[in-house]
Amino acid sequence: MSWKIQNTDVLVVGGGSAGIAAATSAARNGAQTILVEAGPMLGGELNSGIPVDGCMSARGDWTVGGFARDFFDACKRYDGYIGPVCDFRALNVICIDPEASKLAAIELVYGAGVQVLMYTFADQVVVDSSGRIEGVVVRNKRGRTLIRAATVIDATGDGDIAVGAGCETMVGDPVDKSLQPVTLVFRMAGVDSAKVLEFIRAEPENQSLLEYPGFAPDKHAAVEGLVAQGLPKVFFVPEGPLLKKAIEDGRMYPTSLIALTPNSLARREVSVNTTRIASVNATDTSKLSSVFESLHRQVEMCAQFLQTSVPGMEDAVISALAPRIGIRETRRVVGDYVLTGDDVLSGRKFEDGVAKGCHELDIHGSETGHRRENIRDGGSYDIPFGCLVPKGTKNLMVAGRCLSADREAHSTARVMGSCMGMGQAAGTAAAMAQEMNDYDDIRAIDVEALRARLKEQGAVLDGIL
Ligand SMILES: Cc1cc2nc3c(=O)[nH]c(=O)nc-3n(C[C@H](O)[C@H](O)[C@H](O)COP(=O)(O)OP(=O)(O)OC[C@H]3O[C@@H](n4cnc5c(N)ncnc54)[C@H](O)[C@@H]3O)c2cc1C
Repeated sequence: MSWKIQNTDVLVVGGGSAGIAAATSAARNGAQTILVEAGPMLGGELNSGIPVDGCMSARGDWTVGGFARDFFDACKRYDGYIGPVCDFRALNVICIDPEASKLAAIELVYGAGVQVLMYTFADQVVVDSSGRIEGVVVRNKRGRTLIRAATVIDATGDGDIAVGAGCETMVGDPVDKSLQPVTLVFRMAGVDSAKVLEFIRAEPENQSLLEYPGFAPDKHAAVEGLVAQGLPKVFFVPEGPLLKKAIEDGRMYPTSLIALTPNSLARREVSVNTTRIASVNATDTSKLSSVFESLHRQVEMCAQFLQTSVPGMEDAVISALAPRIGIRETRRVVGDYVLTGDDVLSGRKFEDGVAKGCHELDIHGSETGHRRENIRDGGSYDIPFGCLVPKGTKNLMVAGRCLSADREAHSTARVMGSCMGMGQAAGTAAAMAQEMNDYDDIRAIDVEALRARLKEQGAVLDGIL
């Protein structure tokens, strides 16, 4: 095998919400940083139009800061920030325009001095005899390059680098091995929000409300709160007569939700999160490719259903398809600590917490199946350092969807606010490792000093429920 060689302090693989946070934070903290991204754009799932969850608890406290807040400020500069929106169901989410999000990601990553390699796939991990990762072989049109790095951060979502390094992983449900569905998100422009909200007011039984009871004294008040907010944050459920009847009549496929989220006030645009095909192993590329046609049919069916059945959507048109099939669940890397469902639901705090989560437990099943549970008292939980350090490795960290967590904890920590928090923590840790003499193992960094640095740089780690 022949390849060129390049050296760096920190190599981040994957440019989604976790990877852009990791690379920017590593570079801002003085490390020479390379970010490798297989696709044509930075942002990963941020570019699909879904809201950024895991940034603000149901109680209304921000649970992320630092990189995430810089990112939202950059979205504002591109007129693409709607801001915190309450769904009066279970969540406070941050709504952004995915087009502005692309610009924000480019601004922050390049602005920090990261060397970015787009259109480049990481396909081999080189581990030396001591178990240290020497580097990652990446491939693009110019051929293969071994990028040698003191620390590698796996932000691929799928844990590709951890797998290449021989790390243990967990996949799907521990008992029946099922996987959450894959989804093709799409967007519709030309929505009359006022009419949609009037429809929710007239037929509130179609929309899930008050799964977190703290938002309003009763369902009537919740609907009024949603209408007063003036934004089409809608969550149609299959128990409601509208969707139930459409599924029975074959006008809609079985699904646990049609979630509309405002993306752009100027384009009167929403994203639509609804399509689903369950238990597709998304790391099997031929299987993933084979579901495109079915997802395409579901997009068409749902757009027609919304246009014909939801007042305010009559004139709306499909304005964008997500750049790729959305993947909720593949491999979870086994780390020094495995975050559990009990940890997240009880809002557990850890001495070595380096990021936070606050999203509900959120396991989509097949067809209309969906398990959702609130974090205790609408608060937050900590993600400890050990969830970012794969077992049996020395200079590898993970951040984002492939964190070390059981299936329940993963279903909440996988959201993009938490991914940015984990990315900031991993990138900052990798830069701090670079400041050490004789750095050999990422576990040698002083986690209390890491926490102090993260807080100095805006991260929210303490002081909230
Ligand atoms: C349909 C759907 C709806 C969701 N809804 C929400 C929601 O409403 N709010 C929310 O916050 N979260 C939501 N999530 C979850 C969230 O979007 C993801 O879990 C999160 O974006 C993962 O971020 P990440 O950075 O870990 O990975 P990604 O965003 O997937 O980024 C990974 C990046 O790594 C790149 N990559 C992968 N492998 C390689 C490789 N070998 N070499 C080079 N590059 C590579 C990919 O191209 C990609 O850009 C949803 C997910 C789905 C699928």
